[in-house]
Amino acid sequence: QVADTLAKEGCSSPSYDWFQTDSSVTIVIYTKQKDINLDSVIVDHQDDSFRAEILIKDYSYIIHVELSHEIEEDFSVRVVENVGKIEIVLKKKENASWKRLGHPLENHNSLILRKDTGTEIVKPYTPVSDSLLSEFKEPVLLNNKYIYFLIKIYPAGLFTPELDQLQIGDFVSVSNPEGSFKISQFQELEDLFLLAAGTGFTPMVKILNYALTNIPSLRKVKLMFFNKTEDDIIWRSQLEKLAFKDKRFDVEFVLSAPTSEWNGKWGHISPALLSEFLKRSSDKSKVLICICGPTPFTEQGIRLLRDRNFSKEEIHSFTA
Ligand code: FAD
Ligand code: NAD
Repeated sequence: QVADTLAKEGCSSPSYDWFQTDSSVTIVIYTKQKDINLDSVIVDHQDDSFRAEILIKDYSYIIHVELSHEIEEDFSVRVVENVGKIEIVLKKKENASWKRLGHPLENHNSLILRKDTGTEIVKPYTPVSDSLLSEFKEPVLLNNKYIYFLIKIYPAGLFTPELDQLQIGDFVSVSNPEGSFKISQFQELEDLFLLAAGTGFTPMVKILNYALTNIPSLRKVKLMFFNKTEDDIIWRSQLEKLAFKDKRFDVEFVLSAPTSEWNGKWGHISPALLSEFLKRSSDKSKVLICICGPTPFTEQGIRLLRDRNFSKEEIHSFTA
């Protein structure tokens, strides 16, 4: 019935085939569509279960099998756009010859209406360390088991309320890491200034861990942390402990909606706050300023830093 509906829309049903070499297995999907590109292909591999979803108009063509043999974690996907052919190349763990691809699982080799597959929401998050007081560890996951996130739940948000409802045993898919910050930006660094607002604090966690452990030239690290209220300050006591433990590190909290009891700094990012904060350890010290938060905060911060004659190389902003 789906195929009939699709035929009326000028599409014919996709099909697939597979072949192998000593070291690889290639799954070839013939979508019979011309407007397929890499964005139309979602591939998931977990243990021996392999699932590929090809988005075709309002439908999804699914390949979903329990693979007959083990494969490596990385695979490649190629799309030959003009003929609508997709090739997914899996690397065999062992050079055995496969008699079949695997056992069919739910919806394998079928075309289903997309609303039946659930909606995919994609949002970026920044991995953090388990604590600010731990020394920097190379980013290998302990026994490949743990990855830490600090995520704020927005009750009216699209994704975070869903995330908040997840139960142990549920799955979320995580992409490869992306980002433009390079460790080489720390080379010979003397003064590190961090400007964070709200959850824009998350990229600063590993920066702090790394900088305080691995940069011998470092003299001073300062964090100015902007939040609405005292309750919003993430990891406040850890930050205060770190400042106590490591004399190179200082933290200042700035609130935009404080209660009357607050006797610290308040307001939004401003020339006055920055001029007091950005005191370098010497006139010509090598400086890096990292900034992250809501887009208007980051944009305003960059403008103010440029006004104070910091160069583009001295400013690193974390943006989408
Ligand atoms: P959304 O649906 O995006 O809504 C967020 C808030 O805005 C809600 O209160 C909602 O009511 C309001 N809103 C939505 N649309 C409108 C509108 N049109 N007008 C007015 N208000 C609106 N977040 C973290 O917590 N931790 C991280 O480590 C982290 N890392 C990030 C890294 C990067 C590179 C980027 C770009 C963002 C990062 N974020 C992080 C933010 C994260 O990606 C999400 O934006 C955040 O979790 C909100 O998602 P949501 O779908 O729940 O909320
Ligand atoms: P929030 O709404 O609680 O605001 C925190 C502080 O940001 C405020 O106290 C204020 O000082 C400042 N601020 C907010 N709006 C401002 C404006 N219009 N002008 C100037 N300053 C302003 O923040 P939140 O809900 O925790 O949101 C954090 C933001 O950081 C999100 O937008 C998130 O997407 C972003 N973020 C980005 C990255 C990244 O790597 N790019 C990482 C984490 C978070």
